[in-house]
Amino acid sequence: MNELIENRLYTTTGDLTEMPFDILVNAANSSLLGGMGVDGAIHKAGGPQILAECRAIRKSKFPAGLPAGEAVETTAGSMPADYVIHTVGPVWNGGNEKEKAILYSAYMNSLLLGKNLGGKSIGFPSISTGAYGFPKKLAAETACRAIFDFITKHDSGNALMKIFLVFFHTKDEQIFQQVFTGMSMSDVSGLRVNSEFFRLESEFSD
Ligand code: ADP
Repeated sequence: MNELIENRLYTTTGDLTEMPFDILVNAANSSLLGGMGVDGAIHKAGGPQILAECRAIRKSKFPAGLPAGEAVETTAGSMPADYVIHTVGPVWNGGNEKEKAILYSAYMNSLLLGKNLGGKSIGFPSISTGAYGFPKKLAAETACRAIFDFITKHDSGNALMKIFLVFFHTKDEQIFQQVFTGMSMSDVSGLRVNSEFFRLESEFSD
């Protein structure tokens, strides 16, 4: 576990479904009926209750599917977490179809919902960077932007929510840390950024 911003933002590598957070974020697809990647892992680990709740959400609120960038919650079924937040990231299509704005919304709406649900810790997968093909550096930059905005504008009170970014591969965690390092000096003034990460920049220059 790497602490990037004191008490607020952490990265780690592993299986999100095995992490002890109050809230797990699912990189779902619009159908909410399960899929490959982290979506499949969450439904497998949480059992059929999550799918039943997703079906109910489809029926009552989103008959045409959950639009990309939005977020809804279910319980976590048989996993120890309190909730799963299902969000839909953009499919990467070259970058001219508002993919960045949609990815930002997926993070921001999940964070806002997580806070509303009273979560003290929330774990994210790297949304859209698997099957949906979003470039990893741009995804990291977009996730950072949403997280910085959330922390500074929407979660600066007493009941702070710790944000954990869970990568499946060490290399992906390193890409994120490199991007974070490049951004954070100017963007998170006032927050206690872990100085260790400023040293990483040169190690990953390519
Ligand atoms: P998307 O369709 O939004 O791209 P994917 O699930 O295909 O979603 O991939 C998103 C990211 O989640 C990828 O970086 C992938 O390596 C990672 N991933 C897949 N399974 C897990 C898991 N069990 N825990 C954490 N991350 C995972």
